[in-house]
Amino acid sequence: MGQNPDHANSRTLLELEEAVLARIDQDEVVAFHRGLVQIPSVNPPGDCRDAIAYVEKPLREAGFEIQIVQDLETMPNLLASTGPSNGKVLCVNAHVDVVPTGEREAWSHDPFGAEIENGRIYGRGAGDDKASVTAQVLAALAVKRSGVPLAGRLVVNEVSDEETAGVHGVQVVVGQRAVEPDWVIVGEQTLNRVCVGEKGSAPTTITVQGRTAHGALPWEGANAIEGMAEVIVALRRELWPELTQRTHRFFHPSSGSVNMFAGGVKANVVPDKAEIYVDRRLVPGEDPQDALHEIRSIAERALQKVPGTSVEVFLSEWAGAATEAAVDDPLVQGMLGANERLGLSAEPAGFSMATDGRYFARAGYSTIIYGPGDPGLAHKPDEWVGIDEIMDAVRAYAVTMVRLIGDYEK
Ligand SMILES: [Zn+2]
Repeated sequence: MGQNPDHANSRTLLELEEAVLARIDQDEVVAFHRGLVQIPSVNPPGDCRDAIAYVEKPLREAGFEIQIVQDLETMPNLLASTGPSNGKVLCVNAHVDVVPTGEREAWSHDPFGAEIENGRIYGRGAGDDKASVTAQVLAALAVKRSGVPLAGRLVVNEVSDEETAGVHGVQVVVGQRAVEPDWVIVGEQTLNRVCVGEKGSAPTTITVQGRTAHGALPWEGANAIEGMAEVIVALRRELWPELTQRTHRFFHPSSGSVNMFAGGVKANVVPDKAEIYVDRRLVPGEDPQDALHEIRSIAERALQKVPGTSVEVFLSEWAGAATEAAVDDPLVQGMLGANERLGLSAEPAGFSMATDGRYFARAGYSTIIYGPGDPGLAHKPDEWVGIDEIMDAVRAYAVTMVRLIGDYEK
């Protein structure tokens, strides 16, 4: 972190942290978050213009330099920057789009009411992912308003598209090199734990081909559904137990799950085709192509029990290995140190879900995932986040910003 020879950076890290923490106000955080949750930035269709404008306003007013990048008019992506350009670059990222509410009757709170009850704020996106957006924006505002000297650049990147794969969000930001960060913190619901990376995935479609026949003469056909049944049983008996043995110190074990099934033509026709979708999740060290080959060989062996059938397997274009930042990376150490200082978890963890972090990590930027909220509440009715969780995240982001790009006495 830059020793600036032009002036005496005689303030200590502790002084800078205290100055920034003093600018964090719970009433402001709660009011900002409620206002953001009340904007229905549902994706699809994903018109996030109002939400991005809402986030941009206080940052612009505080003196951040504003840049918008987009490839769709309705999905602007914000980059709000401050600090010198000749130092390290810290980027914080989260998404303002939210998944649809589902059945309104399943909610006991207005999905866009941002109602407060027992210290919780309820609403679609209250956790996923507007809690992270709020915490990042309010942390950045605290840093800016405190006037603490910076030796590097802080970039607040809030994007419009994550819930439909991020192609109009972080993919555009990274693709255009709108920011080239040394460090990235992606805000998702980690319960304010420091996640050094995310699991990879090898989404695989398996198609069994058979031969139709009249349902009354099944011996003349080759039943693709019955063939697929053998494949599924083989995956359950042979592969799933094997995957539980592939562990990693920070992550849940490797896993697989058959999440979709299609097959059959008509009640009295032997089916000639059946298809399943295997949701295969990878720990660091596993390769998507290897995962595909493994599934293929099990499927081919299983189908020998159903003569006349054959199998094809396809890997989705979204396949990718797990990401993992080094524990001794200043980014990881900075965030762990912030958590430790604030009495939060100082143990590294791994994130099970896919996030926008994969775009940054695969572009070569050191990336971690950190944010308030419980991933188990995301995408469900009565989604909520605790006000105390958001406040912890605002403070943790702010302290991390100071530790990574603050200009202080070493
Ligand atoms: Zn999210």
